[in-house]
This record gives sequence, structure tokens and C-alpha cells, in this order.
Amino acid sequence: MPLQFTPEQEMLREQVSRFVRQECSEQLFRRMDEEAHYPHELYAKLADLGMLGIPIPVAYGGSGMGCVSSAIFQEELSKRLLPLQMTFQVSILSAGMAILDLGSPAQKARFLPQLAQGKINFSIAFTEPNAGSDAAAIALTATASGDGFRLNGQKIFISAADISDFMLVSTRTDRNVPKREGITAFIVDSRSKGLTIRKIDKLGIKANAYCEVFFDDVYVPAENIVNGINKGWAVVTHSLERDRIGAAARWVGVGQEALDYAVDFARNRSQFGRKISSFEWTRDLFAEMQTKLDAAKLLTYRAARLMDEGKPCRKEASMAKLFASELVVELSRSMMQVLGGYSYALEYRSQRYLRDCLFATIGAGTSQMQKLIIANEMGI
Ligand SMILES: Cc1cc2nc3c(=O)[nH]c(=O)nc-3n(C[C@H](O)[C@H](O)[C@H](O)COP(=O)(O)OP(=O)(O)OC[C@H]3O[C@@H](n4cnc5c(N)ncnc54)[C@H](O)[C@@H]3O)c2cc1C
Repeated sequence: MPLQFTPEQEMLREQVSRFVRQECSEQLFRRMDEEAHYPHELYAKLADLGMLGIPIPVAYGGSGMGCVSSAIFQEELSKRLLPLQMTFQVSILSAGMAILDLGSPAQKARFLPQLAQGKINFSIAFTEPNAGSDAAAIALTATASGDGFRLNGQKIFISAADISDFMLVSTRTDRNVPKREGITAFIVDSRSKGLTIRKIDKLGIKANAYCEVFFDDVYVPAENIVNGINKGWAVVTHSLERDRIGAAARWVGVGQEALDYAVDFARNRSQFGRKISSFEWTRDLFAEMQTKLDAAKLLTYRAARLMDEGKPCRKEASMAKLFASELVVELSRSMMQVLGGYSYALEYRSQRYLRDCLFATIGAGTSQMQKLIIANEMGI
């Protein structure tokens, strides 16, 4: 499958790339890390440019451009504005697409146009202290109460929960059936009484917090159920492939930026009268990493294209996510060596790329889970 983009997709890449370079100064890039500053105004600008609506159909205020275009957008955005890509991924790709395909007509009409316009954000609250890779093992309960339900329990590691207006939450509604058959998904207003959000201090991507969320008798009306009672597993798993393709595109973007940064450094620093970039081992390393990045890109856009063609892409999405995420960690680590002592100084970017990408092999399904999926799809 050749890696060919339409003229519109090439234009989109150029437009996002220009946006990122114009809007994200060195000062902002550092502020996002050092002060955990989240640039809300840039997310609003992306909405004004119509970019948040890329995967949302025209009927709901988006442009319906599909998965390849979404991946292009995410790859370029992640190069410098990773915290915004994280929000786009959970809010629009995960929650938005689940509402689009499984939500009620009223939910679609209410939430999708606002998502495309950047007026609201969603977070995805699936993981719990005792339910991570085993996402169906959730314990947070939803109990019928009047015209709605009362939610009690805890979620953990929820990206952008602190800046979300709504959360898509998986809950346990029946304990007496196999675990996947007793799950219900709710849209929960983040300002609900009884809901507490606590940011967890973390290693990288500081501007996009991940949070603990506590539910203490939180009331949710029944109309906020997505896809019906005890049919929440379909919601939890709905956006997994899109999520993995998005994550792969993100890590291709970050990896390319980390490589370009180190190449530039190596071209400008000399030891023993020679440029660092002229040593055999750095040339070898750069060539190997660019080759692997291109391979990750091919895997990513192969999966995205299959998704746009409506073909199965479970295995291909996992392969792209697995390869790109393992690669970005290997690449960022090896670029530290190129910078020598400078790599360890916070004012140089290499340590930042490494810190930011260390969760690549964990979030959106760990590498081990991707391998399980690939092996299963191979029929092994
Ligand atoms: C930065 C960040 C952002 C996140 N954002 C969100 C979010 O927005 N919403 C959300 O719901 N969650 C989010 N998560 C949670 C993420 O999805 C989980 O961390 C991930 O699914 C792994 O779950 P866990 O941490 O409980 O690890 P565990 O499932 O406990 O796994 C621990 C280790 O055991 C391995 N393992 C587990 N089961 C198996 C098995 N069957 N075979 C072999 N090995 C296995 C895993 O691969 C891993 O190496 C986020 C996590 C991070 C780090």
C-alpha cells in the first residue's frame, strides 16, 4: 500500500505544521513543561481553523475528513503541542466518536457540534486502581435512583479530567453476569455534586494533567447513558483502534522532532576538530532511526487508510501503536547520548522528549497488550 496523500491532506499537513511553528514559541514550549501551562487559547484557535472537527461529520459541524487526515493533524500537532493533541485524542477521537456511533440522537445533537467548535471538552474515565489493562474489571458502581443513577467509586490516570466539561465514564451496573456484560457508560457533567478531581504529579507532558476522580453519590440522569444499560463494553472498546492510530501518529511526530533536534545539535558541535554528526556511530544511529521512523509512519497510515475504507484494522492499529511507541522511547533515549552532557540540562530539549514519551508504551494499551492482540489476530 503506497503512502500517498491527497492534495487536501498535503495542504492540511502544511497548515498544521505552520500553525505549530508560528504559535508555539520556545518560551511557550518551555512554559508548558516548567509551569504545566495549558494553552487553552491555542485549542480555541484550532477549533476556529476547523481542525477539531476533522473526524466529525459535516452534519454535526465537522469536516468529516476521516482517519488519515486525523492522523496527519495529530502527527504535526504533537511535534510541539503534545498537550493539545492529548486533549483532541480523548475528547474528540475517543469520546466524540463513541457518541457519534453509539450515542442517542439527542446526545449527538447536543455534544458533537460543541466538540467541533472547541466549546466543550470530554475526558475518558475508564481506568481504575484495580482495573487497567483488564478494563472490564471495573468496580465503580451505578445504582438506579429516581429518574437516574448514583455513581460511587474511583477512576485513576484520567487525562485532561481537570479541564473537561464532561466525562465518559464506565460503571458496573450488574455483578451477576460475565464482567463485560454488566458495564454501563454514562456521560457525567464534570461539575456534578459529589465529584472530586485530584491532579497527580507526573514525569512528562505536564501541561496535560492526569487525574484521580472520586465519585461520591454522583447523580446522573438516565438520558446520559450511552448505548443502553449493560451495553457499555461496546463504548469502552469502540474507539480503541482510532485511539491506537492516533497514539502512533503522535509518537511518529514526537520521534521526528526529537531526531531532527539531535541532528541539528550534532551538526553544530565539534570535538577533536570534527562535527559530532560526522562520527560513524552518529551517522549510523541517525540513519537507523530515520528508517525506523519511516516504517512507523507507513504502519500508522496503513492502519488509518484501512479505517477510512471501513476495513478491519485491529491488528494493523496495534502494530502501528506498538512499533511507534517502542521506537519513540528507544529514539529519545539514544538522542540523549548524542547531546552528551547537554542532554541532561533542562534547557535542552532531549530530556523533555524522553520524559514526555516514557508513557508511550503504557497509555492506549500497553505494549504487552498490543502483542496479545496481534498474536490473537494471527490466530496463535
Ligand atoms: C499518561 C497517561 C495517561 C492516561 N490517560 C488515561 C485516560 O485518559 N483514561 C483512562 O481511562 N486511562 C488512562 N490511562 C491509563 C492507562 O490506560 C493504563 O495505565 C493502562 O491501560 C495500563 O493499566 P495499568 O496502569 O493499570 O497497568 P496494569 O494493567 O496493572 O499493567 C502492569 C503491567 O502488567 C502488564 N500486563 C497486564 N496484563 C497483562 C497480561 N494479560 N499479559 C501480559 N502482561 C500484562 C502490562 O503490560 C504492564 O506492563 C493513562 C495512563 C497514562 C500513563
